[in-house]
Amino acid sequence: MQALVYNSAWDVALEERPVPAIEKDNQVLVRIKATGVCGTDLGIVSGKYQASSSIILGHESAGEVVLVGKSVTTLMPGDRVVIDPTYYCGQCGMCRTGRQNHCAHKSVTETGVSADGTFTDYYVAEDRFLYKLQDHVSYEEATLTEPLSCILTGINQINLLPSFRTIVLGAGPIGILYSHALASKGVTGSLVDISKERLFKAGSIAPARWEAYDSFQAAVEAADPSGRQVDLIVDTTGVVGTQVISNLANGGYLMLVGLRDGTSTFNPKEIVDRSLKIIGSIDSLGTFSTAHYLIEQRIVPAKEIITHTFPLDRYKEAFHALGCDLNERTLSPSSHAIKVILQSS
Ligand SMILES: [Zn+2]
Ligand SMILES: [Zn+2]
Repeated sequence: MQALVYNSAWDVALEERPVPAIEKDNQVLVRIKATGVCGTDLGIVSGKYQASSSIILGHESAGEVVLVGKSVTTLMPGDRVVIDPTYYCGQCGMCRTGRQNHCAHKSVTETGVSADGTFTDYYVAEDRFLYKLQDHVSYEEATLTEPLSCILTGINQINLLPSFRTIVLGAGPIGILYSHALASKGVTGSLVDISKERLFKAGSIAPARWEAYDSFQAAVEAADPSGRQVDLIVDTTGVVGTQVISNLANGGYLMLVGLRDGTSTFNPKEIVDRSLKIIGSIDSLGTFSTAHYLIEQRIVPAKEIITHTFPLDRYKEAFHALGCDLNERTLSPSSHAIKVILQSS
């Protein structure tokens, strides 16, 4: 089978790999149909995020069951499924204390980062990580389940009120999914992006009563013209850091979900004195089923968020649409695409 393999920074290529075999009775062989290109993939390819050499990239995926192990009773060949790629053992110290997203074995089991992923034709997963799709949900739409699940995990860490004045920085797929996930809990707010094309697109797919702005200050001004305070700021860009703290209302939340190295400073006294919360969140924890539901029920408009689809062998065009030029070895912070999907044959 053809597989998109990461060797080192800027060195990715399609290679021929053997079809993986079922090795345990609870495993399932899935023929991959679609995988979303994620910011993490761009980070790995450009050398900004560590991954193991010679692994197959890709982790946001859906496909069709082709073979099931002896003990699998809930799935059969032909079933359409979405894959939860966040493997956890269930038995290590992290898993036994409710932190399965930080399973001690992550450094060798993380799909598309430290273990083979899904930018290929076949993938083996344990049955507990597969969720059946209803007929009306396309494989492409289903690929948004994983990023949405990560977002729901982030939101679960906030003592959220529908009245929260909210700003989401970055109108890429994560920012737009955040706006819809927050809207499903009654929150209204605004999306901020420096890319005019993304803002235009965001304006048409943002939830009802959500606005789009080209600067953080304009969004703050709109939310609170006199006090310039908001209750929740979600930074999906990874570049803003703690610069926005002065615009957080007392008791407010700064949610950091952009995976990017940097240095940020804050005054501990201000965090204490104003009861501020700075939160980081990675991967998903007990939220995959809810994400699956929100997409199935079309509460989150997955179809509208997908702007580009390419076959796997045109991966360079897919990455380019997201500002990542594999030939020039450049990664631009802004792109015209929202969600880009690679289809396996
Ligand atoms: Zn992802
Ligand atoms: Zn574990």
